[in-house]
Amino acid sequence: HRRCRVLGIPVDACRDVQSAAIGLHARGGGRIVTLNAEMTMTARSLPELGHAIEGADLVIPDGAGVVWALARQRVSVVKTAGIELAWTLLEYAAAHSWRVALVGAAPAVMDSLRQSLPQRLPGLNLVIAVDGYQPADAWDGIEAELHQLNPDLVLVALGVPRQETWSERVSDSRSGLWMGVGGSFDVWAG
Ligand code: UDP
Repeated sequence: HRRCRVLGIPVDACRDVQSAAIGLHARGGGRIVTLNAEMTMTARSLPELGHAIEGADLVIPDGAGVVWALARQRVSVVKTAGIELAWTLLEYAAAHSWRVALVGAAPAVMDSLRQSLPQRLPGLNLVIAVDGYQPADAWDGIEAELHQLNPDLVLVALGVPRQETWSERVSDSRSGLWMGVGGSFDVWAG
């Protein structure tokens, strides 16, 4: 894929984001950021978000504004919603015995996903599924567990910018794909 910039923020133009993500996993993993116009603006004024996006292995254009800005640079990309990429990765994970971690969203949402996802995606191996409203002193333990489990796929729903900055810090030198998914867990839980 080719790395472009929108308002100074990196974004990758790839022909097929699913293949790019799965290829990234095959090369040892990395971080995926889905970038929309609002995040682009936030990143310009919030250095830690800018840093987390800059260091991502794959920045997917997620939203019409970013796709439009790329088109103005004569870069044509297929718009891929982050939630769709995340679901495709879960389907792939279920079919290929990937070990999957889910982090974030409200406790009731996570409870619902723990029940419903393995039914909707037979074969899905959830090795850890924790909500995003843990007491402050619980996070060290969760991070240690993630390091020890070393999952193939970690979907993080903590909202922007925390999901990106947290993933950047915790995924450091770990294998597997890490991806911030915003409100996707809420949508999947219905
Ligand atoms: N979230 C969380 N912990 C927090 C804040 C948010 O788990 O401290 C979850 C929230 O429940 C939702 C997701 O993060 O499932 C995305 O939140 P929101 O839609 O507010 O953020 P956005 O991604 O739209 O900025």
